[in-house]
Amino acid sequence: MQIHYKTPDQIEAMKVAGRISAKALRKTGELVRPGISTLELDRFAENLIRMEGARPAFLGYNGFVGTICSSLNDQIVHGIPSLDVILQEGDIISIDTGAIIGGWVGDNAATYAVGSVSAAAARLIEVTEKAMWAGIEAAQPHGRLGDIGHAVQAVAEGAGFGVVREYVGHGIGHDMHEDPNVPNFGKRGTGIKLRPGMVIAIEPMVNAGSGKTRGPYEDRWTVYSADGSLSAHFERTIAITEEGPLVLTCE
Ligand code: MG
Repeated sequence: MQIHYKTPDQIEAMKVAGRISAKALRKTGELVRPGISTLELDRFAENLIRMEGARPAFLGYNGFVGTICSSLNDQIVHGIPSLDVILQEGDIISIDTGAIIGGWVGDNAATYAVGSVSAAAARLIEVTEKAMWAGIEAAQPHGRLGDIGHAVQAVAEGAGFGVVREYVGHGIGHDMHEDPNVPNFGKRGTGIKLRPGMVIAIEPMVNAGSGKTRGPYEDRWTVYSADGSLSAHFERTIAITEEGPLVLTCE
């Protein structure tokens, strides 16, 4: 494992990628409505990122064809945008997107309700976002990596939901995926030490049912909940500083 610690100046530079990533996510999320295709969302996000002078972080990554990952309902992550996928009232959709500028990457995600959704779906979204913020709050300097996973897991499982274990958060910097892996489960006080200069993406994936996954299948990307239950996903890129966690993917 090789962790690339960032200097305060480098963290400042990463804020630019973070701001553009956050704007792309927010503005694309505002377009979510019944009748729009996930490819339209993707094209919008790509244009926005390029207009900001950045480039999409996901496009071409291991051959991925989108600027966003768009994952509907029982899809957990890595759904491929398509003209054939039209959002329907009652769906939930995770949008994950990132931008690269000045050689630094930003990465963030959120799950949106399409029109009005069931109370159960709304609660899943709410709990997953809360779990992400609990994980961020737990990312304190001189704490341990397991503090983050423990905090996320406590919120998600406390609400009766399943935490996905096969996919995890990650270090981020010049590369979208750097060391360390940041699991959404764990024991407080265990794992590597959290030090100022670490920049990580905290991204709980929470299923309404079991946390087990299935896939990807023919498209080589889309991951589903094993039991077909709804899945939600939120993500922020944060830096660990002496003063505490600092969210970089914000406007
Ligand atoms: Mg990520």
